[in-house]
Amino acid sequence: MKLLVATRSAHKLAEIRAILAPLAELELVSLDAVDVPPDPPDDVLEPFDTFEANARSKALWYAQHSGLPSVADDSGIEVDALDGAPGVRSKRFAPTADQGAARDRANNLHLLQLLNGVPEERRSARYVCAVAFVDPDATADATARSQFTVRGTVEGRILEAPQGSGGFGYDPLFFVPDLGCTFAEASADEKHRRSHRGAAFRALLERLEAMDS
Ligand code: IMP
Repeated sequence: MKLLVATRSAHKLAEIRAILAPLAELELVSLDAVDVPPDPPDDVLEPFDTFEANARSKALWYAQHSGLPSVADDSGIEVDALDGAPGVRSKRFAPTADQGAARDRANNLHLLQLLNGVPEERRSARYVCAVAFVDPDATADATARSQFTVRGTVEGRILEAPQGSGGFGYDPLFFVPDLGCTFAEASADEKHRRSHRGAAFRALLERLEAMDS
């Protein structure tokens, strides 16, 4: 089976390829290899309040435009002291027009300001990743074989100051007790073994293997 991996991130694609490699009969297709219209803006493609609904919306869009079974993910961070914020708005949390690393810095600063004075025991948080699978030939009947979502999470805590220079996004503030460091201090391999995205794509692998048998 061909499977379109609907991500523009070369880094994510490489990680997903490694995770799905055990399924030899799966031919992974990247977005460069298909003729789809330019991506709609994020607020059109992922306007929903849950990671699952946004991942499904993206997978459906790419499946319909490519004609291929497609997977897409949506992820972010939930902070308990902020009632789960920023959640699906993790990328655009701070009011800034900056992009890339500058936006990440603004988001981290905004998070630290909102958590100012919150004690360590109330700074619990988790990264969440939802992955959706959509088969365009069967979108009319939403059976488990034609559409499904899986989720991966990793629990941690928001530090009072950044630590480490690896990773991206909220990683310098996200302390993982099991690792004894932040994701920005962990090696890429360590992060992938523990991460929400790793867990979600391993759950996807299990579902695809079960479909195959
Ligand atoms: P995306 O859905 O993977 O593009 O993630 C949306 C936003 O969530 C990113 O822009 C980051 O702010 C945050 N995020 C998701 N995953 C991670 C991660 O592994 N490390 C740090 N930040 C993340």
